[in-house]
Amino acid sequence: MALRIILGLGITVVMFAIAGRRFFWLYQLLSSGHSAVPSRFGDVPKRAEAEVVEVAGQKKLLKWTIPGIAHFFTMWGFTILLLTIIEAYGCLFQEDFHIPGIGTWNWIGFLEDFFAVAVLLSLVTFSIIRLKNNPKTKDRNSRFYGSHTGAAWLVLLAIFGVIASLLLYRAAQVNTGNFPFGWGAFASHGLAKLLEPLGTGVNSVIVTVALLLNIAIITGFLVFVAYSKHLHIFLAPINVAASRRPRALGALASTPDMTLEDVGEDDEPVFGAGRIEDFSWKQMLDMATCTECGRCQSQCPAWNTGKPLSPKILIMDLRDNLFANADRVMARNREAGQEVESLIGSVIDPDVLWSCTTCGACVEQCPVDIEHIDTIVDMRRYQVLMESDFPPEANLMLRNVENQGDPWGLGGSKRTDWTADLDFEVPVVAGTIPDDIEYLYWVGCAGSLDERARKGTQATARMLKRAGVTFAILGPKESCTGDPVRRLGNEYLYQEQAQKNIETMSAAGVKKVIASCPHCFNALANEYPDLGADFEVIHHSQLLSHLVAEGKLTPGGGYKGTVTYHHPCYLGRHNRIFDEPRSVIDAIPGANQVEMKRCREKGFCCGAGGSRMWLEENIGTRINMDRTGEAIDTGADVVSTACPYCMIMLDDAVKANARQDDVRVMDVSQLLEESMNELAGVGASAPVATEEPAADE
Ligand code: SF4
Ligand code: SF4
Repeated sequence: MALRIILGLGITVVMFAIAGRRFFWLYQLLSSGHSAVPSRFGDVPKRAEAEVVEVAGQKKLLKWTIPGIAHFFTMWGFTILLLTIIEAYGCLFQEDFHIPGIGTWNWIGFLEDFFAVAVLLSLVTFSIIRLKNNPKTKDRNSRFYGSHTGAAWLVLLAIFGVIASLLLYRAAQVNTGNFPFGWGAFASHGLAKLLEPLGTGVNSVIVTVALLLNIAIITGFLVFVAYSKHLHIFLAPINVAASRRPRALGALASTPDMTLEDVGEDDEPVFGAGRIEDFSWKQMLDMATCTECGRCQSQCPAWNTGKPLSPKILIMDLRDNLFANADRVMARNREAGQEVESLIGSVIDPDVLWSCTTCGACVEQCPVDIEHIDTIVDMRRYQVLMESDFPPEANLMLRNVENQGDPWGLGGSKRTDWTADLDFEVPVVAGTIPDDIEYLYWVGCAGSLDERARKGTQATARMLKRAGVTFAILGPKESCTGDPVRRLGNEYLYQEQAQKNIETMSAAGVKKVIASCPHCFNALANEYPDLGADFEVIHHSQLLSHLVAEGKLTPGGGYKGTVTYHHPCYLGRHNRIFDEPRSVIDAIPGANQVEMKRCREKGFCCGAGGSRMWLEENIGTRINMDRTGEAIDTGADVVSTACPYCMIMLDDAVKANARQDDVRVMDVSQLLEESMNELAGVGASAPVATEEPAADE
């Protein structure tokens, strides 16, 4: 008994000392990051809710049904089995130890055994999943490609060791008469039957050996966790609690007046993140928390079309760099004059950095709430603002926005051209918006200037007019919201554009805004308030949905066919507007809807976001071709969407597939209008036009 106590406690003290040292080091490292913006200490009820829903309820993981259920039982299994750890240490000192009060309750014994068996079954499930998704055979198609798979197998083995040794000593305890539970502990009693013929003496030895083994594996596992990607067991609840709420989508994280952080003894201001110490403590916590599960990678449009960007590998590479440079990071100040190589080029390949469409699929999927987009855009900011080093083709777009107020460089005078084809006047705000006009219609650059996107704008305007909604436009005074330049990393230009637009709208007394472009919608609704904007913003698909529901617009039989709907990332994932555009299509009697496999939260990007619209796509296959191929495969004759950029990208790909004669790309407003034209005795709306200004015009 004495030897058992000495060994049990000795192992524990050594392992706890090693793990404790590592955790203290991690705390020092992560807390040496810059302050996180926005602050992560407010919104306590929302953070508590996230803990309940995401950590305890495993909501995100359960979206992946089989691995989700297996993870649910493993996580809860280890929580319930904490009771057995108390029992194990008690048994070191007293053969027939049980937890005072509850320690002999049969249902406690049942719960412990139930979860022990559930964890074993989960291990089998994880093993099958890992074998089926072996990166050696599936290469990039495996979500584990790039992960530390050896360590993952070791963890599965360690968990097996914990449960096997647990059941073994409990079974032997049954045979030595020291087990506190009856047949509720079904697995322990079942195994005991097998060990019974060995006799009491041997069973007594088994108790000691299996008990010490159990303690050694658990404490050894603690050390392994502290040094491996399984840190998430401890860090995930903290990371989830500290994440942006309700989610790290929609607005980008930043301060309105740019984050000026002091680094180095020379107090040189740094915009964005070019070295690992430029990241915030939350971004460093993200890096340490990644479980390498690859869910983000499996959904990433860049990765799925052969680009070098994997959000998982990007976070892992940053984590490796953080750990490798921990001493420098913890010292906070480099020695005066010490040069530190930029991450971009040495750790993060520029093609990785510029491949991101900021679609949000990674953030949406990540079970531990890692905020990939903010980290990527921070590095882009550094490249653009500190290094002036970005894809050269973006130069023209940046210049056009700066000088002409739109990415094409067509200028404000062209912004009202789309109204010429309408059979009614669209008021252009001259001074303040008149009292009898309810909305400002924010048309956006693409909706005003691109020939195909204009069709959607015109249909929306006609629908609003038909429903009696009053609206005016800013016309030449409207200017790019700054979304593409912000996603490219040019925070200065974004803020200039935003301030200018806010001043224009405030001077016009704007209170309510309709936005057609989800990127404009996102900037106006989620980002401009940080700069002082105060107006209500609605997307045109939301308004159309309300007008249909109120009976102010009645879809008719002018359209009959099969429609598949493409969720724009900045409308769906970023702003949770999934149902309203669908409800407009639902209301069209002749529209037979078919679903693409990747839809709603798992919708696949069109390839235009994150300023990718303005960059060359020379690596891998084109994202819009991939997405449009999926849409065409549904057999739909209409690919509907609610974003001018998606319209352009999908329409380009339909033409590249030579399917423009039998597949039309239409905004939901066009589809609604076409359905209504039967009621009004008008012919179907014309197929989308083919002329458009080229991106490099
Ligand atoms: S935002 Fe989209 S493109 Fe960018 S890393 Fe995440 S999944 Fe990939
Ligand atoms: S970033 Fe999130 S989703 Fe991606 S591998 Fe890490 S834990 Fe998994």
